[in-house]
Amino acid sequence: MKILQDLSLENLKELMTSYNEKSFRAGQIFRALQSGRKISEITELSANFREKLMSEYVDEPVRIIKKLVSKDGTEKYLFALYDGNVIEGVFMKNNYGNTQCLSTQVGCRMGCKFCASGIGGLVRNLTAGEMLATVAAVNRYTGGTLDKRSVTNIVLMGSGEPFDNYDNVVEFLRLLSHKDGLNFSMRNISLSTCGLVPEMIKFATEGLPLNLTVSLHNPFDDKRAELMPISKAYKISEILSACDNYFEKTGRRFIFEYSLVKGVNDTDECAEELIKLLKHRPCHINIIRLNEVKENGLKATDDKSAYRFAGKLEKAGLSATVRRLFGADIEGACGQLRRTYLGSNDL
Ligand code: SAH
Repeated sequence: MKILQDLSLENLKELMTSYNEKSFRAGQIFRALQSGRKISEITELSANFREKLMSEYVDEPVRIIKKLVSKDGTEKYLFALYDGNVIEGVFMKNNYGNTQCLSTQVGCRMGCKFCASGIGGLVRNLTAGEMLATVAAVNRYTGGTLDKRSVTNIVLMGSGEPFDNYDNVVEFLRLLSHKDGLNFSMRNISLSTCGLVPEMIKFATEGLPLNLTVSLHNPFDDKRAELMPISKAYKISEILSACDNYFEKTGRRFIFEYSLVKGVNDTDECAEELIKLLKHRPCHINIIRLNEVKENGLKATDDKSAYRFAGKLEKAGLSATVRRLFGADIEGACGQLRRTYLGSNDL
């Protein structure tokens, strides 16, 4: 079975020709799918044509199967994919709008020590249409439409490494920003990478000037490699050059994520090295308090020390903030909920 949401408007027009349908049907289908409807719900089409489509394409490629609501209002969703795989996503309410955090892969093969997503390795990539369908489903479920979206911001910070699924992620961003569909502006989208340098350089040429975020977590290559195996492939200096290049090409400042692990990367030495590396760069640093994952034994830095760490960076002239905690009581860390779910169900 294929996924109709994977098709661009142009592809849909070609499909209409092959079905001997009028070309305006393509626009109807495109808008209906982007607003989160299933094929069987596109009643503008004849029942006969819907049946034909459903014999080739999955009616509902992404289905919400569970929702958890945190005390702070954060919602965590589990989605079933058509092949039985399960992914997760988060919906966070802010004063400026609502942010959806998306997964880009089922599992992940980057193997970062602190992260729950990588524990079972990579299962498969998500297609562009599956990523789109998760946004469309949550936007619809939370009362949004195409014209008045409930989801206002997107962060590609769920399970998976977006640049390890490069082509599908780029295609997804083109679908998501299409003016006839959900029409997202790149300013309201952030993509987080563990630092795949060749893809970072290529992405700067795509004409998709989103907020590029890099997971740094340690300013020393050897120590970073202990947390993030990908550091063996790309040095921090190469990552920083790729960030500088992104700024030159897009004019967008970049963001670093730095999850504090007690006694590992929260030392004065780390703060001083970060200042040295980032002082003259057009960037912001997001200090994250580690979400403890029982499988790895790493401990979070306490709040007071986290604010002290951020204060040190700020005093040196860097832009740094400690990120608000979201959904800590509903397994907010990447991949945690999916793991719990898989552990308790035969899927
Ligand atoms: N693969 C991408 C995006 C997914 S993770 C990346 O590496 O950037 C999104 C962010 O959450 C990353 O900065 C990641 O390092 C961080 N993260 C993962 N697990 C975490 C945990 N248990 N606690 C705190 N941050 C975590």
